[in-house]
Amino acid sequence: MQPFIESELFPPVPTELLANCPVCGSPDLHDKLQVQDKSVSQETFTIQQCAACGFQFTNPRPDAANIGKYYESDAYVSHNSAAQGLVNRVYKVARYFTVRRKVALINRLNGGRPGQLLDYGCGTGHFLAGAKRGGWQVTGLEPNARARHDATARVGQPILEASALAGLAPGSFDIISLWHVLEHVHALHDTLAQLIRKLRPGGKLLVAVPNAESLDAQHYRQNWAAYDVPRHLYHFAPAPMRQLLARHGLRLVQTLPLPLDAYYISMLSERHLAPERAGGPLAVLKAGYKSNQYAAQHGGHYSSVLYVAERAAPGR
Ligand SMILES: [Zn+2]
Repeated sequence: MQPFIESELFPPVPTELLANCPVCGSPDLHDKLQVQDKSVSQETFTIQQCAACGFQFTNPRPDAANIGKYYESDAYVSHNSAAQGLVNRVYKVARYFTVRRKVALINRLNGGRPGQLLDYGCGTGHFLAGAKRGGWQVTGLEPNARARHDATARVGQPILEASALAGLAPGSFDIISLWHVLEHVHALHDTLAQLIRKLRPGGKLLVAVPNAESLDAQHYRQNWAAYDVPRHLYHFAPAPMRQLLARHGLRLVQTLPLPLDAYYISMLSERHLAPERAGGPLAVLKAGYKSNQYAAQHGGHYSSVLYVAERAAPGR
């Protein structure tokens, strides 16, 4: 019998090559790392780094019209072992506490009271549902049809496609959140500009993304699960993110750690290692703990970072 060749299972899709850094526009780009997509396509992608601002991004990348197939993740959930079940249970407990913390945070950022929230890329809607229970008026946008359907049921109101962003009233939101979303967005500047127009003056943009300069990123290198190529188009770090936000006229108010992500990403990264090198739960706990300790002592380089940026109020 003829063995399948890889390209028959997963034919290559059209790619686009960026000639300039998406953050600062410099053409001075260098190959940094080769990373394999271990969860879906098994293809290898190049991560380039800008010599001017240090920003890292996947280049070339599948274009916007064709990246959808890299999200078709049946390959992902193939092994439904008991371990997988335990991971899912732990994940659900963590999510419950995370949602509560996120809602407390947006209350604090909004002067201690609920207001108008837009969650861009709301996934299955757990955060939106929690915010709505907390008294927020919520709007959710989500490109994935299945997640949008789940979120509509969970939040108890229609969740819209991402393209509905253009139709939302300008200046109408107190908080706009992107939880692990911006690294997936092809039209980076257009999307940011549109989102910022929807914020009221003084409103806050919350952007949570992995940190490619965290200790767990340095430890796992090409096996770091948060590279997640080609789905992650950008691999942010604090300095380029500051530059990006400033370019859009936003004031960075604070950066906050997402300490659970260090454990989650370390767990996924251990699975990417060759079997003889992969560690068990102890290796995961050690890597996650060390990453958070390092970040606390070295300028907040957590595995994932939440950036809180403000749209300037008039006259400030
Ligand atoms: Zn740059």
